[in-house]
Amino acid sequence: MRPDDEALDVSVPLAPVVAAASHDASGEQVVTRDLSGLAPPARPAKRWTPRRVVAVPAAFDHPHGHRIIERVEALGIGVERLRANRLTGVRGDTDRETYARAKSTLAIVTCPPSRRSLQPIAPSADWRVDLAEGCPAHCQYCYLAGSLSGPPVTRVYADLDDILTDLTSYLGRGTVTSRRAARADEGTTFEASCYTDPLALEHLTGSWRRAVEHFGAWDAAVQLRWTTKYADVDSFLGLPHTGRTRVRFSVNAGPVSERFEGGTATVPERLDAMRRLALAGYPVGLTIAPIMPMPGWRGHYGALLDRVRDAVDGIDRLDLTAELITHRFTPGSREVLLGWYPRTRLDMDEASRSRKFGRFGAVKYVYPAAVMGELRAWFEGELTDRLPAVRVLYWT
Ligand code: SF4
Repeated sequence: MRPDDEALDVSVPLAPVVAAASHDASGEQVVTRDLSGLAPPARPAKRWTPRRVVAVPAAFDHPHGHRIIERVEALGIGVERLRANRLTGVRGDTDRETYARAKSTLAIVTCPPSRRSLQPIAPSADWRVDLAEGCPAHCQYCYLAGSLSGPPVTRVYADLDDILTDLTSYLGRGTVTSRRAARADEGTTFEASCYTDPLALEHLTGSWRRAVEHFGAWDAAVQLRWTTKYADVDSFLGLPHTGRTRVRFSVNAGPVSERFEGGTATVPERLDAMRRLALAGYPVGLTIAPIMPMPGWRGHYGALLDRVRDAVDGIDRLDLTAELITHRFTPGSREVLLGWYPRTRLDMDEASRSRKFGRFGAVKYVYPAAVMGELRAWFEGELTDRLPAVRVLYWT
């Protein structure tokens, strides 16, 4: 692990990296490339500055809680110490005010006990591990709507070291990717972005860097996975990841990303970040989501795939996957999203969708089978033609 004083280094220089060889989850040799000649990003990465940062007393019991506080204070942001282990002062007079206050608040807390017991997360990974909950972006289709209770405050976990140490007990017990012949070579997989966006918070927490290093030093068949709509990757380029972290970039066609993804990096910025990580030897991926059949969708998604092709051009030993996820919503997420974004133009018309029932009878609204079939056939065909190096992990 990195000494604490280094964890306070919140500047993100493009550090020259010495070429080094190591082994990935399958035992294959992975070369961390010399990045000294890599061009800097076109413009500085977008970073969130919370208006209010609070820390609960329990956060002070953990070294990583102190690291986060020092990191935040080094950025010139004051940290308010709460008297009890519950968040207060977030609700405003109206729902809009509550949303705005919550979305601009960062809370340094500990992981709830229920979250410390990991659950399978199909189809992405064997296990879901949470290092934070909440996200400062404003996607009008946000996956978190309806999943989280209370105002959408971003909570980051101070007990990171304990969370990472506990992962050992899940090794070799995976039932999702570990049981699929096509993905068993990934080892036991851990998904760390179900309830947050890692790169939106990394400059404030340093948590995902430590996680990448933890997996890099974990001499076992394991994979850390996370997906992001941000592009602030410089601090990851020189890490000893040993090929055990796959970073996926959530991308979409122009009409979706430009209209519905407020506060995120642009798609070209995300693809540039993906290229930089791939050049640094990371396995990378695309999360194309949420796929929507808007007018002219073939042209728009075709342009996206061409952008991806350009972004990965000439990368030696490229390891690129794609996860394809169509737009869906539940009655609960629809209600929350319409509260957050009352003027949204996002299509959430139940009448034009098919109903799908989950394991416990929960309903979700998906595109009708004919539309799904058309989308799927197009994506699978075009990915093969335009990006022959890509490996599609799943369609849903
Ligand atoms: Fe929600 Fe992801 Fe957008 Fe954050 S980046 S607002 S988690 S959809």
